Amino acid sequence: MAPPKHEYYETLGVPRTASADELRKAYRKLARKHHPDLNPGDKAAEERFKNVQEAYDVLGDPKKRKMYDQYGFYSESGFAGGGPEAGQGAGPTPNMDFSGFDFSDFVSPGGGAGGRRAEGGGGFRDIFSQFFSGRGGAPEPEPEKGGDLEYVMDIDFWQAIKGTQARLSITRYDICGTCHGSGATGAGEVTCPQCKGTGQVSQMAGAMRFNLACPRCNGSGRLRNSCPTCGGDGRVARTELVDIRIPPGARNGSRLRVPGKGNAGTRGAPPGDLYITTKVEEHPFFHRDGDNIEIKVPVAVWEAALGAKIEVPTIDGRTLLKIPHGTRNGQRFRLREKGVESSRSGERGDQIVEVMVQAPDPRDERTRELLGQLRDLHQGEDPRAELWSKV
Ligand SMILES: [Zn+2]
Ligand SMILES: [Zn+2]
Repeated sequence: MAPPKHEYYETLGVPRTASADELRKAYRKLARKHHPDLNPGDKAAEERFKNVQEAYDVLGDPKKRKMYDQYGFYSESGFAGGGPEAGQGAGPTPNMDFSGFDFSDFVSPGGGAGGRRAEGGGGFRDIFSQFFSGRGGAPEPEPEKGGDLEYVMDIDFWQAIKGTQARLSITRYDICGTCHGSGATGAGEVTCPQCKGTGQVSQMAGAMRFNLACPRCNGSGRLRNSCPTCGGDGRVARTELVDIRIPPGARNGSRLRVPGKGNAGTRGAPPGDLYITTKVEEHPFFHRDGDNIEIKVPVAVWEAALGAKIEVPTIDGRTLLKIPHGTRNGQRFRLREKGVESSRSGERGDQIVEVMVQAPDPRDERTRELLGQLRDLHQGEDPRAELWSKV
């Protein structure tokens, strides 16, 4: 019977202490002996030849032999292939190059009668190829334009009309001062951001969790040549004060662009912009409608009936408005160019005055008397006549 597939020392008929020279000699001898050309049609010989080839392939390579000695098996891609056999030499404390792998789930502690057999193997191969495909160095990210930043700025009614200045505290990604955005310094080391310096990353395979050597730093936990300040990104988050000038005439929802004050781009790409959106507080009496100002103004019955010149507030102060006789409640009057100066055209809007006719409250006898005379004078008139005619 041929020895089990992975008993490499037995396959070659050498002790575990055999030197490289002894291994080579044993291999040559057995390879000649079992070579298919010398044993035509002999299936058993062919099988032995293959086993000898495989055994020497592993034991003849010092690195592979070391792993085999330690774990009782060797596979190109870690665990792929047949899985571990007895593993006589498997110690509980791995201390070789492959120590990035946590074998504790795989080889029973104490290294006795072997670890569990991994099912299949393809699953592992998938994981490992995924992890090690980029081992020659992570692909260089493309330079990317920095993102825009949006801020909402609360301003009051008067600040919106007259314009204002503010100093905003903006947190943005800025170009790293250490590496000037390149992400590299050409010297020094930095903690690997992928494994956070542990040198290991976790990966699940079915119910088993593996700690793999971090592919980015090759398990060292440190990265060379990356800027220590920004970790290779070329940017650092920074809170800075940005002076903002809100021009006169800003409206609620106006968007102000501050070029180049968005996030810095990566690897020298241009920065984004900062956008300030103004949120204008309502005024208790003045109402903004674009560049026009609307206001409701109470007028007395006699002002509305007889006509009057009344004082109304504007954003410039008091101004006179002529109310014609017979003015009705809700009637609107336009005060030209008493509105807001447009931030775009520089022209002023209008102020729209809507009158609210106030009924007098007859608290004194004389007023009551006069209102009674008014009623008697207009007896027979129905103020709702028009309404009735249309209902
Ligand atoms: Zn940097
Ligand atoms: Zn790492």
